[in-house]
Parts: sequence; structure tokens; C-alpha cells
Amino acid sequence: MRMKDKVAVITGAASGIGLAITKRALAEGASVVAADWNANALSAAFGGTDNRIIALPGDVSQEADCVAMIDRAVSAFGRIDVLVNNAGVMDRFQSVADVDNDTWHRCMSVNLYGPMYTMRRAVPLMLAQGGGAIINIASVAATGGGAAGAAYTASKHGLIGLTKSTAYQYARLGLRCNALAVGGVKTNIMDSVKGAPLDEAALGRLGAYHASNPGTLAPDDIANVVLFLASDEARHVNGAVLPVDMGWSAA
Ligand code: ADP
Repeated sequence: MRMKDKVAVITGAASGIGLAITKRALAEGASVVAADWNANALSAAFGGTDNRIIALPGDVSQEADCVAMIDRAVSAFGRIDVLVNNAGVMDRFQSVADVDNDTWHRCMSVNLYGPMYTMRRAVPLMLAQGGGAIINIASVAATGGGAAGAAYTASKHGLIGLTKSTAYQYARLGLRCNALAVGGVKTNIMDSVKGAPLDEAALGRLGAYHASNPGTLAPDDIANVVLFLASDEARHVNGAVLPVDMGWSAA
């Protein structure tokens, strides 16, 4: 019960990594606002009557939706202790010469603007109650250039910058902000890439990682590390970018 009496907001909670994190947080005693833009998947996952979970449809690329996610935690549960920015979209392995504006804007608005919107709302509330923990789900594409295309890579590098800035700015005020650099996890996001009409040459250059690591990591492997970072056991871990990639980035 490492999250007993804690209140968490988790984005992208309806599937994959976010679903695993949400289930673990509930099992560890948290009250959770589980947010996702896929309302059907949300109600399929959390359609029960548990009064410790609120399934809230919302799009993290929209600031008003992000504000609503954070405010709902406070109005329903009285506080916000943990924010997990997990909602994300993948690109199609396009290098900068090929990237289309739609892909660029989608990756930036979901993977980078979304976390900024939720954090901007949550941080003052966390500070007012004496602190909190923010965990941003980044990627091996946040620390190197070889795991995805230009748009996804740039958005996840940006998320690391936002993480470190936040960690540094509030370090003395009880607020921690960390990121995970996650390796290839077999979720819908990977299927969406596989199904896309990829440029084979770009995939050969950039996607070798995926070919050599076809999703051996499971969502629960990521959830375990998130729970550690959210818990008081990690009270002096701040500004870290923790690889959870089976050693791939060590190469
Ligand atoms: P992974 O768990 O590897 O990130 P998934 O595709 O299984 O891959 O999970 C991503 C989750 O994020 C999905 O449930 C998806 O609906 C959600 N998501 C993606 N974009 C947004 C968004 N803009 N707002 C809210 N949720 C989103």
C-alpha cells in the first residue's frame, strides 16, 4: 500500500503502459483520476463502481481538458499528490526532410504540450499542499536519435528538458519531477506504427532498435518503476531520467 491516501492523475490510462500504471496505483491504495481521449476504452477498463477511480475522457493536447483533469482530482479527492504524464503518440519514422506538419504538430501537442499543460496546473496545487511527485513517461528516443523519427524524438527530448527544469526549480519545495526513458514495449502504439505505410529506408536507418527488441518489455515492468518514483522511497530522486530499456541505451 505504497500509495495509501495518495491522489494521482494518470493520462493515457485506457491502454498499454497507462492502464498498467493505473491498476498498480489502485492496488497500492491510491485514488486515481484516469484520463484518456478514448472514452470507450476508458469505460471498458474502468466501468465498475470503485469509488477510488474516476474515468475522465479528455485530450491532453487541449489545455482546458488538462485543467479539468487536475481540478477533478482536487474537487473529488481533495488534493493531488502524483501526476503521471503518460499519454503519447508515435510518429512514422520520418526524418526531418520528410516529416509532415500534421505528424510534427501531433507529436508536439500530445507528447510535449500536454505534459506542460497538466504540470502548469498541478504544480501550484502541489506546492500549496507541501509537495508532490510528477513522473513523465519519455522514451529511449528522448536520449538518442536512433529509436524513432524526428517528430517523436524532438517531442520526447523536449519532455526531458521540461522534467529537468521542473525538478530544479522546485527542488527545495518538496516537489519532485522525474522521467522514464522507456524501451520498446509491446502496446497498441507499436501496432499503429507497424500498420502505417512506412518509408522502408527510414525504417532501416531509424528502426533497427525495434527490429532487435520486438517488445519484450511489458507494461507492468514500466508500472513498477513508476510506482517506485511516485512513492516516498524515492524521496531524494529528482530530475532523473531513468532508462527502463533492458540495457539498450547502454550501448
Ligand atoms: P503506450 O502504452 O505504449 O503509450 P498505447 O497506445 O497502448 O501505447 O497507450 C497510449 C494511450 O494514450 C492510449 O490509451 C491513447 O488513447 C492515449 N492517448 C493518446 N493520445 C492522447 C491524447 N491526446 N489525450 C489523451 N489520451 C491520449
